[in-house]
Amino acid sequence: MENLNLQWRLLPTLTLLAASLFFLVFKDSAKLSHSECSLLPYNHYWLTSKRIVTPKGVISGAVEIKEGNIISIVSEEEWPRNSKTEQVVDYGEAVIMPGLIDVHAHLDDPGRTEWEGFPSGTKAAAAGGITTLIDMPLNSDPSTISTETLKLKVDAAEKRIYVDVGFWGGLVPENAYNASALEALLNAGVLGLKSFMCPSGINDFPMTNASHIKEGLSVLARYKKPLLVHAEMEQDSERHVKLEDDTLDTRSYSTYLKTRPPSWEEAAIRELLTVAKDTRTGGPAEGAHLHIVHLSDASSSLDLLMEAKTNGDSITVETCPHYLAFSAEEIPDGDTRFKCAPPIRDAANKEKLWEALMDGHIDMLSSDHSPTVPELKLLDEGNFLKAWGGISSLQFVLPVTWSYGRKYGVTLEQLASWWSERPAKLAGQVSKGAIAIGNHADLVVWEPEAEFELDNDHPVHMKHPSISAYLGRRLSGKVLATISRGNLVYKEGNHAPAACGSPILAT
Ligand SMILES: [Zn+2]
Repeated sequence: MENLNLQWRLLPTLTLLAASLFFLVFKDSAKLSHSECSLLPYNHYWLTSKRIVTPKGVISGAVEIKEGNIISIVSEEEWPRNSKTEQVVDYGEAVIMPGLIDVHAHLDDPGRTEWEGFPSGTKAAAAGGITTLIDMPLNSDPSTISTETLKLKVDAAEKRIYVDVGFWGGLVPENAYNASALEALLNAGVLGLKSFMCPSGINDFPMTNASHIKEGLSVLARYKKPLLVHAEMEQDSERHVKLEDDTLDTRSYSTYLKTRPPSWEEAAIRELLTVAKDTRTGGPAEGAHLHIVHLSDASSSLDLLMEAKTNGDSITVETCPHYLAFSAEEIPDGDTRFKCAPPIRDAANKEKLWEALMDGHIDMLSSDHSPTVPELKLLDEGNFLKAWGGISSLQFVLPVTWSYGRKYGVTLEQLASWWSERPAKLAGQVSKGAIAIGNHADLVVWEPEAEFELDNDHPVHMKHPSISAYLGRRLSGKVLATISRGNLVYKEGNHAPAACGSPILAT
């Protein structure tokens, strides 16, 4: 009896205890624990290295990270080595740079996740030192051209991204003359808009003309956001030649090259500049900005852009590592891994692209990572005219830029400018893009001198390694570790268990 009484008296207390435990467990499961998000068990720690790339130059010293942010940066002499109580990770001679920001990636999620996807794409990014991706509004299904389709993107990214991901929205004929639809899309958080001046290859992403773009810029001006443009315009005569001529060797890369000549890029940019002048100080679209994606033609197109900058247009331009690494002459017959648009041009053009990049006429770099399923690359048939265009490159952009750029004297500071600082500015990310106090602790640690063969022994982490044009190359510059908002998300071939990246929405 006594025992029974005791049990009855204890019951309310036990119930309360059980309820509290349930609440605690439930609360924890709703939020991923630090140990799942990071391969490093600290919230507050120092990184040290002999080569830390800061906006003030390369220093030997230490970076202090607390709760995802950089809270101090000190030189080796200033570092309070003896008084420290925090954890320290010493990277020795390895370079610590701001994490790369790739403003041009097609992650194809939702809708075409067999091509790529948020988990696979952001894991590849982490393995390549990329801490922020801005996802293109097309190649997913549906395209991101409205608040509803943006919501599908954001929902798809939820707890499935290993690094931070922002989103561009699409400027298409359907919304170009509808200011309130564009405003709603911008209010919902896209970081800017993207449009095509030629067919995109995706049915629900039709091309725009200069008049659509003019309308788009007037809305973007109020939001101080950029319009990214795929600048190629079909020229009827060349198109005609291609369609009429049955004798063309479709396995020869030179055939493909003839179907998309530099004059397509030049014509698009010439047309674009008729509205770009609106972005000048005092112009009707002051505050808006134009950004030319993946420039390939380093001749007339580049001259036009340089002139536009001199005239005060708010305009920038990117090119991609594949235009800087490869030349048309060396692309083997039938090797459709190299097909992209605009096409990779000849070696002389490549030299001019490097020159323009080194001279500052090309502002930044991006991957234009645009994979598909291997079947659509038609690798067996090798038909350059029919194969899907797009280079799969996400995680190799840092070693590729470095390996091919060394002979031009590329510096670590230039890499940080092209891959982090300027892309951050384009995407409006004030807390990213530099190792600076108060910024997100988004970092890549890598060994520029380490050489490796890009073969199956290398941890590739790509969804479809067989379609990457870089496989089989020897590169230098090995990523050791990638830190995203203080979390060690990648280390020597391994990823953190959980996907703890943040979707980035403009506020
Ligand atoms: Zn693209």
